[in-house]
Amino acid sequence: MSAQRPRFPLQLDKLATTKRPGTIVPSVVLMSNIARQPGPSTLAVPQIVDSRARRADMVAKLKAQGMTDTVVLDAMGTVERHCFVDSGLGGQAYEYTSLPIGLGQTISKPNVVGRMLELLRSGHKGPLSRVLEIGTGCGYQAAVLSHIATEVYSVERLRGLHDRARENLRHFRLPNVHLILGDGMLGYPKGAPYSAIVSAAGGEAIPPAWIEQLAMGGRIVAPTVTAAGKQALVVIDKTAQGIRQNVLEAVHFVPLKSGLA
Ligand code: SAH
Repeated sequence: MSAQRPRFPLQLDKLATTKRPGTIVPSVVLMSNIARQPGPSTLAVPQIVDSRARRADMVAKLKAQGMTDTVVLDAMGTVERHCFVDSGLGGQAYEYTSLPIGLGQTISKPNVVGRMLELLRSGHKGPLSRVLEIGTGCGYQAAVLSHIATEVYSVERLRGLHDRARENLRHFRLPNVHLILGDGMLGYPKGAPYSAIVSAAGGEAIPPAWIEQLAMGGRIVAPTVTAAGKQALVVIDKTAQGIRQNVLEAVHFVPLKSGLA
């Protein structure tokens, strides 16, 4: 299957090959419905002392390091990151560290989340409308996105994490977050076109489906293996003149994998 995907750098003449056998129809869970579903009455929210102050410190540090987008900074200052990690790790939730979220996956460092969301917004005039996130993980970034976009579609291929994110997000009651169990390499056509697509997992190339489902004027931010064989942050802009691609700094994200597990 990987032979069908274009190698990096992206070649537009190969973008028509999206149809693959065994395509999984994703199941969609609307957060507005989740809030009404019966479920465990108690949510294991790790106790940390004055999380608001911890978030304010995190935001101050992000600003000191050059982040200027107040919309992203405010969103990150609002979402209670410690609610998304294991209770034993709650104390580290606001540190500059990636943390395990189960099934061998990690939640990115706050500065990496901030950087990617700032890049997403800077590629767009006005507020973001529909955004596709690949790799829901624990749901943290989806929660931050819910504050900066009109609708958030977040796809996760691991059922355990999809369920976990649904539990984590239940507490926040975010009607504009839609969680999908599916293979994000296929995007999520039902929500398209997207004004932005952000991936929390790094592939060998930008999947053609993402380009197809991106609105004109939209932007993709995704870790991708470059010609040098190393993962870097790649920004793709879809313009009337064609696809523009910029390779930015080196990053270390978990791999983008196909299929469900
Ligand atoms: N944004 C997440 C980070 C999750 S880590 C958060 O805030 O917690 C990246 C996630 O991408 C992992 O959960 C991994 O399972 C998922 N992933 C990898 N390949 C994928 C694919 N093809 N489709 C959907 N999710 C994928």
